[in-house]
Amino acid sequence: MTDLTTPHATSTADCLATLAATPDGLTATEAARRLVEHGPNRLPEVRSQGQVVRFFLQFHNVLIYVLIGAAVVTGALQHWVDTGVILAVVLANAVIGFIQEGKAEAAMAAIRGMLAPKAAVCRAAQEAMLTGESVPVEKGPTPVAANAALGDRSSMLWSGTLVTQGTARGLVVATGQATEIGRIGGLLTGVEQLTTPLVAQIDHFARWLSFLILLVAGLLLVWGYYVGHMPFADLFMVVVGVAVAAIPEGLPAVMTITLAIGVQAMARRHAIVRRLPAIEAIGSISVICTDKTGTLTRNEMVVAAAETAEGIFAIGGEGYAPEGAVTPAGDLSRLARAAALCNDARLHRKDAAWMVEGDPMEGALLAFASKVAGDHSARRLDAIPFDSRHRFMAVLTDGLHGRVTHVKGAPERVLRMCEGIDLKHWHDRAEALARRGLRVLALAEGSETGDRIDAGTLEGGLTFLGLVGLIDPPRPEAIAAVAECRAAGIRVKMITGDHAGTAAAIAAQIGLANAYRVLTGADLDKLDDAQLALEVADVDIFARTSPEHKLRLVTALQAHGLSVAMTGDGVNDAPALKRADAGIAMGLKGSEAAKEAADLVLADDNFASIASAVREGRTVYDNLKKVISWTLPTNAGESAVVILALLAGLALPVTAVQILWINLITAITLGLALAFEPTESGTMARPPRDRNAPILSGGLVWHVVLVATLFLAAVFGIFTYAIDRGYPLPLAQTMAMNTLVVLEIFHLFFIRNIHSTSLTWAAARGTRVIWIVVVAITAAQFAVTYLPPLQAVLGAMRISLMDGLLIMAIGAVFFVLIEIEKQVRLALRR
Ligand code: ATP
Repeated sequence: MTDLTTPHATSTADCLATLAATPDGLTATEAARRLVEHGPNRLPEVRSQGQVVRFFLQFHNVLIYVLIGAAVVTGALQHWVDTGVILAVVLANAVIGFIQEGKAEAAMAAIRGMLAPKAAVCRAAQEAMLTGESVPVEKGPTPVAANAALGDRSSMLWSGTLVTQGTARGLVVATGQATEIGRIGGLLTGVEQLTTPLVAQIDHFARWLSFLILLVAGLLLVWGYYVGHMPFADLFMVVVGVAVAAIPEGLPAVMTITLAIGVQAMARRHAIVRRLPAIEAIGSISVICTDKTGTLTRNEMVVAAAETAEGIFAIGGEGYAPEGAVTPAGDLSRLARAAALCNDARLHRKDAAWMVEGDPMEGALLAFASKVAGDHSARRLDAIPFDSRHRFMAVLTDGLHGRVTHVKGAPERVLRMCEGIDLKHWHDRAEALARRGLRVLALAEGSETGDRIDAGTLEGGLTFLGLVGLIDPPRPEAIAAVAECRAAGIRVKMITGDHAGTAAAIAAQIGLANAYRVLTGADLDKLDDAQLALEVADVDIFARTSPEHKLRLVTALQAHGLSVAMTGDGVNDAPALKRADAGIAMGLKGSEAAKEAADLVLADDNFASIASAVREGRTVYDNLKKVISWTLPTNAGESAVVILALLAGLALPVTAVQILWINLITAITLGLALAFEPTESGTMARPPRDRNAPILSGGLVWHVVLVATLFLAAVFGIFTYAIDRGYPLPLAQTMAMNTLVVLEIFHLFFIRNIHSTSLTWAAARGTRVIWIVVVAITAAQFAVTYLPPLQAVLGAMRISLMDGLLIMAIGAVFFVLIEIEKQVRLALRR
């Protein structure tokens, strides 16, 4: 590429010449050559913290401080085994935290990559990002002065600015770091925090709890020394054990992993999370407001019918292929010419199939025009682009038939612009087509003398040509997804710019609840906010709406305490997407502005992906809850055992080093397995959860108390049994330690099904992750119980087969008890 320093002041032809480009673009080989020469079109990434810094940050945590302090004290007391174990725990904690965090970050980075925009050729860009200007500006090919300020270079389109309206072809003059935004650098995309309201809440709770535990530990130390008269060195290790057992140190990290796994699962189902809190919000959604075209329907359009003053015609053919019969035969040439010229799309053939470049509806109009004989070529002089607020498009061309303005748009809008027609008749005809579920367009033309479209022609000076009806069939998977949402207690509402009749017909095909009642944009305008709030709950179809209505609808639904998901694609949808509890933008046909405002982006624009996202969102929330509901009772149970022994002046059922060991293996393996839990069956048969219900609920506190009590009973039970049978203390302690681990594994199987019974074959079969974890832990427990070197470190002794079976039996009894309690609770709730 030769140098092009002032592209904004250079004419299109010169730009093309300097860059050795053509209006049709580069050849594949040339493009590949330039890619090698200039590098990929990518902005330098914001550098994240170095790996070393990230590793050392793992040590910045209350628990680690406690442990390091403990290592120093035990070292000073020359208890080398304790010091060694403590340091091993510290190191293992840091390494595991480091690996987990790295995995979570990589997952997020991969998702961010999926959101990179695919192409940009445009006119009239909103360029707030570069110039601070937030009002749309006009763009055109005329060169400007070489020293023009950035904001005045109206011949340039920048990367990172948003198109509000219009179409254009552009020439790329710079890529990657050579672009204006690339020069600014660093300004873009900060590193997003891996957190959601729930995780932040738990993080906060964990910190608060840690300090409380440290306080209790301090009191225990004082009490044990002055009241219990225990030797300081032993007492100190025990108190450290209590603190480590009680502090839920693994919790925030496991929750972060759970989120990252959820984000990946959603991406696999075509829902890309832009803002992490959305993953929680989407799981609690109680209403989904969705677009129709392309989301509930396929957006693969075919003109099926045309109606002119001459009569009604059926149009044959499939897809966008230009072949198909018009029956009965008749002259549709003027209608076809309007359809072809008032059009921005192009059809091209790829392999055997015909494809549209542009709006599928316009593609269908082109295919229709090709089925009707006639020459449709002409030079375009002026155009008024389509806008969902005025619902028509006009194009002035100069061709075989002279200067003609062609207009197409919503019938009620275009009919008003025409002279000498029976309005009532044509409204009725449009209505009749719409009732068949067809999307209806009216076409008209007017002669022109000047180079611009005359506003006067559009105000009643047009000649009406006819109506066309397009089929846009519902997506079969959307029908299933709507049914799934309804079973999950979620209302689905359609908000469309289309005609009320068409909307109602499609709604019935899709299976919306109230397909017989439609409110139009005009109806909405007549209602004040209070009346709207009354109406909105029962109506499921909103037709002929403009984007402004979406904002009012979201607000009205939220006034009912509902949690609203809203889809959108246009620039003007952005405020509604921001306002919604979960704003969802279309990845394919959505504007950049909509995507920026959204929490989620659908990679395939498909309603079914919204339902999948809800399912995944519910799963993530459940898994977060499971992680918490497993970790807290485990911590409470472990520490309660030691505290009780200390306070009662009993021999310790498990030693301090054993507590550290259990905590290390359980915190990093068993709890983590829950992050990978698949969706529980029945997840989409439950009503949405209450958005405001606290996660640390009374129910959870009860579960903590129940499980901790059962842990106490089981551990003291086996310990007393061993002592009574005259076993040596270390053997009794080894049995107690193994009992704790067995209880935790059974508790893990219990927690996997918090909404239903665990007594099913599927629940017993578990998952691969669960079994990997269980096998690993079992192997580790066998190792410390039976291998002499490890026995020495943990002060363990071999357990006989019968006692081993007894420990398993205790686990099974524990499982049966908590399962019965759950069944009773679930039954009472029903
Ligand atoms: P949804 O909001 O479900 O995507 P929609 O695509 O029908 O619905 P709009 O794009 O706002 O909503 O279109 C509203 C109406 O404007 C259409 O029903 C049609 O009559 C008319 N219309 C749509 N696209 C064009 C176009 N390119 N040219 C002229 N008229 C159009």
